[in-house]
Amino acid sequence: MIGLYLHIPFCDGKCPYCDFYSMAGSDSLKEEYTRRLESLLTEWEGKLREKEGSYKADTLYFGGGTPNLLGASRLARLIENAQKGFLLENAEITLEANPTSRLDAFFEEMAAAGANRLSLGLQSAHEEELRLLGRRHTARQAAEAVEAARRAGFRNISLDLMMGLPGQNWEMLQESIRFCASLEVEHISAYLLKIEPGTPFWQKKSSLNLPDEEEICHLYLSACEELEKLGYFQYEISNFARPGFEGRHNLKYWRCEEYLGLGPAAHSYLGGKRFYYPRDLEGFLAGNLPVEDGPGGSPEEFCMLALRLREGLSEEIFRNRYEEEGVFLPERFWKEASLLEKAGFCRIEGEEGKRVLSLTPRGFLVSNSVILELTERI
Ligand code: SF4
Repeated sequence: MIGLYLHIPFCDGKCPYCDFYSMAGSDSLKEEYTRRLESLLTEWEGKLREKEGSYKADTLYFGGGTPNLLGASRLARLIENAQKGFLLENAEITLEANPTSRLDAFFEEMAAAGANRLSLGLQSAHEEELRLLGRRHTARQAAEAVEAARRAGFRNISLDLMMGLPGQNWEMLQESIRFCASLEVEHISAYLLKIEPGTPFWQKKSSLNLPDEEEICHLYLSACEELEKLGYFQYEISNFARPGFEGRHNLKYWRCEEYLGLGPAAHSYLGGKRFYYPRDLEGFLAGNLPVEDGPGGSPEEFCMLALRLREGLSEEIFRNRYEEEGVFLPERFWKEASLLEKAGFCRIEGEEGKRVLSLTPRGFLVSNSVILELTERI
């Protein structure tokens, strides 16, 4: 079963920290873009049908950009198109949206079209932080959007939060977290701000008053604790959910399962290969083909992705996946894992042959180096 991702590269402005592929778009450009996605959906469905094995999709994710700017009727057309082809009836259909305007009618149309999960960009409950981030909505608007989504029938709503913001202290972050919990959403994604090269934030990095490393550790670990206390189980480095509300689409990425991404900057992993459509809207509209990005699903990559998840890396699943290639998790790997466990970065559960290795919140904080230490020993 694959996941389907549609990138909607339109935004009504550019946030100064953002390096996602997005731009302003006229109505006619949005229409042309929708048509291109429709024809690609048909094309890919045909290609995948010819392939042996399972090609049905059980998740559809509209990411961006700001997908709601495409408009409800175009998004509904895309859902219908996907449903005609390979989307299953009980699929999770997620839509990212930004609460810059009243979304009541939009949510009603999207619920009627079959969307059943929303991911709303809140980022902070503090107006001064929202201003600094260049966001074009208020916390009040986000709360109104959640209420409107509930009225439209959405029972699975996620809010995005950002941590490590300029001038942010724990009290401020805690207030933002409690604001989300007070709206009783099912899922919260909490990301540490990363200053990306080429963004306006990168240019003025030194004057941003960013928290230092120690403060960032404190913010992240306190947030993990607070979210758990409020009933949000940490199932991934940056993702927290009420039981049963983990994002099924994103779980596919971390479990190294197959997915097809359409749109400029959208990545795919299918048939053992990774490929992507370049960040070039004109080229995409002109029919440019995706670019190959080498093989995917190597043992190292599988470990790296699994260790992002609280469910962790299962020795048994790894063996079932790679034993034909003669690859297994050797004792030197487990020895290193034991050392990291003693240092508080991970935990090992289960008996030999069925061990499960997962990172602790402290391990998540330094996941890149912990994962490197481990995968070097495969
Ligand atoms: S709304 Fe999201 S995608 Fe658009 S510019 Fe801001 S952060 Fe980037």
